[in-house]
Amino acid sequence: MIEFRQVEKHYGDFHVLKGIDLSIAQGEVVVVVGPSGSGKSTLLRCINRLEAITSGTLTVNEVNVADKKADINKLRREIGMVFQHFNLYPHMKVVDNITLAPMKSLGVPKPQAVETANMYLEKVGISDKAGAFPSQLSGGQQQRVAIARALAMKPKIMLFDEPTSALDPEMVGEVLDVMKTLAQEGMTMVVVTHEMGFAREVADRVVFMDKGQIVEISPPEEFFEQPREERARLFLNRVL
Ligand code: ADP
Ligand code: MG
Repeated sequence: MIEFRQVEKHYGDFHVLKGIDLSIAQGEVVVVVGPSGSGKSTLLRCINRLEAITSGTLTVNEVNVADKKADINKLRREIGMVFQHFNLYPHMKVVDNITLAPMKSLGVPKPQAVETANMYLEKVGISDKAGAFPSQLSGGQQQRVAIARALAMKPKIMLFDEPTSALDPEMVGEVLDVMKTLAQEGMTMVVVTHEMGFAREVADRVVFMDKGQIVEISPPEEFFEQPREERARLFLNRVL
């Protein structure tokens, strides 16, 4: 579903991604961990071409992402992304936040878009908030709206960039639970997070990045019990 081959990325003189090789299968849940500044967000953002790669090849859903002729709008419609900051439209009700993209970019008629929105709100556990404005919701509820909004586009892949990092601790669990359900339903997911419990429990594989490189890729039981690489051991000692 997603294949990086020898992908390099520079920001000007700064070499942010170095020789990235990573293949992610359909239905797989990959959790990306590593120190701040190691390139995790950049790696995610290359997948839907929010960032352009400098060299190598990156294929997503059989589309060569670097190809000038690739249909990037289609690619992006098929990839949902959830950020640390929820980026909901503050002047729009929850339901309108969710129906906007399906109506505008997929041409879904309003009644059907509203029905879908309500279905996903129920799925993320806040069906009673359709008529609320984002400012009336807690951070955890807003993030669940952001997930519902992404799902309403019926994506094939979901990318999460530290979706719980901006939340009060008591709200982290409710968001991780929604993500866990999605994972169990077979969604292909790439998740950048500092939640090691989530990585351990939900990931099929853990990718450890440091200084722009993928240092280790292991199943979670291996990564957390006996990391192969010294840098991974040092990282785990700091965060666990
Ligand atoms: P992470 O998500 O692991 O914290 P990032 O992918 O955000 O890492 O960033 C990796 C490095 O690239 C950081 O040193 C950051 O300062 C740098 N960087 C990120 N975005 C840009 C940009 N648009 N221009 C220049 N440097 C950037
Ligand atoms: Mg980041």
